[in-house]
Amino acid sequence: MALSEAFQVIETLQIPNYRMEDTVRWLCSMSGDFSVASAWEEIRRKMPIAPWASIVWHKNLLPRHSTLGWRLAHGKMPTDVEVQKRGVCVVSRCSLCRKECESTAHLFLTCKFSDAVWNTFADWFGFIWGRPSSILDFLEWWKGKLRSSNLRDLWAVGAIVVCATLWEERNKRCHEGTHRSMKQLLECVKGELQECKFVIRGVKSIQDLCVKTIGLVSSTDIGSGILEVFWCKPDPNWVKLNIDGSSLGNPGKAGLGWGPCFATTRPKWCSRMENTWAFPIASKLKLKL
Ligand SMILES: [Zn+2]
Repeated sequence: MALSEAFQVIETLQIPNYRMEDTVRWLCSMSGDFSVASAWEEIRRKMPIAPWASIVWHKNLLPRHSTLGWRLAHGKMPTDVEVQKRGVCVVSRCSLCRKECESTAHLFLTCKFSDAVWNTFADWFGFIWGRPSSILDFLEWWKGKLRSSNLRDLWAVGAIVVCATLWEERNKRCHEGTHRSMKQLLECVKGELQECKFVIRGVKSIQDLCVKTIGLVSSTDIGSGILEVFWCKPDPNWVKLNIDGSSLGNPGKAGLGWGPCFATTRPKWCSRMENTWAFPIASKLKLKL
């Protein structure tokens, strides 16, 4: 288009004339406001999302765990076989089973020791360990098991937390000469999961068992808050019988206390029963009252 034609087009344009001052607007966000996130989204080179991203970059994972997961997914963990591939001559023996060469797949998946750890961990969630033979197959299998919605986050982070604990154990055996049993290792896994700050709501019985096995607290275990209770003296010539108790279940272990109170005295507990059972006690009280 010639410049003269362009001017003709411009002259025909209807320019809106509102009684407003012009303002600067950022076109890369819906609101028109600038944000670093929208700028980064505009200039970054977009690549397909890796299939294991939701496992490795899970919001509940500690950064050191995510970093280890990323290295693992890219085959960059410095196991003996990986070091050999880089031209370094090292003799390899798995420090967990002391029988086979230490490849990444062997150390983290197929080693007899690691296999037992995975078996137990999967069993906590009611799964049968799928025994994948490569790290990518393992991450895909793990992601496929994210079907338990209430424990989804807990299961998701478990993959990398267990791998990190196995790697830590391997390093301790290689460099410090210390040795932990499988049971001790699983206790460490529980400790790491407890550090991930989960909020677990509305768990069902089988899931509740899993949560308690790992040592976490579900929201159903948390009380609704402090209830303030006011005590009043009884009227003259009246005796007040104060009763209180609590139980760990129904039926379950329970404790109970009671005491009479007269108009001129403060209440005093005069009986206390422990390690009784809630249901029988409640039934007896009902009969007596
Ligand atoms: Zn081994």
